[in-house]
Amino acid sequence: MEVSSSSRCLSCSVRKWRCDGARPVCAACDQQQVPCCYDWSLDKGIFELFPTRMNLNGMLALERGAQQVANGGFARVYRTHRKTGDIVAVKVFFDHKRPPARALELSVREAFTWHCLDHRNIVPLLGIADYAKICPGGFPQLCLVSPWISDGNIMDYLKANPGVYPLPLLMDIVSAVSYLHSFRHGPIIHGDLKGIIAHMAVDQLHA
Ligand SMILES: [Zn+2]
Ligand SMILES: [Zn+2]
Repeated sequence: MEVSSSSRCLSCSVRKWRCDGARPVCAACDQQQVPCCYDWSLDKGIFELFPTRMNLNGMLALERGAQQVANGGFARVYRTHRKTGDIVAVKVFFDHKRPPARALELSVREAFTWHCLDHRNIVPLLGIADYAKICPGGFPQLCLVSPWISDGNIMDYLKANPGVYPLPLLMDIVSAVSYLHSFRHGPIIHGDLKGIIAHMAVDQLHA
């Protein structure tokens, strides 16, 4: 999929840098000494932003057996197995409100930001995949793959376990939010507190 309307290079876009659009190397990439790339294709440029091990095309399949567990405004989440046997959550972007190029830009940025995070209360991004390659009949779209968390979000967990003292769980969330807000490449604001709870408190749910 090409993003013809974006004159920004991929490298600047995912880091929210101002891009002068100079080719073959923009000024920001030149100054920061990162590879400059204008190839927005899912089978090349986008995957090259990430370490090779994060390319999960061929490692999982969304077909019978993949259970759709959430359908938000911009994405669906599926629960499925990787070929290695572990259960993963696969988030597929279906953003019909924005132009496809803009939706792709935002999804790539989310994946890039997420893969930079390293905190014990934040579920890691295992990798990315192309929906067209992991789902028969699927169209080219970015998928984000993370470990499946069986206990759901913290509110569900506390309802199911009324004897659990919630303060340590809340402190884990505060720790994760504080990490995001003081992130070394600039503050990250999580726009969905429900999501943040589901994503973050999970380590401690089993403690
Ligand atoms: Zn640039
Ligand atoms: Zn650049």
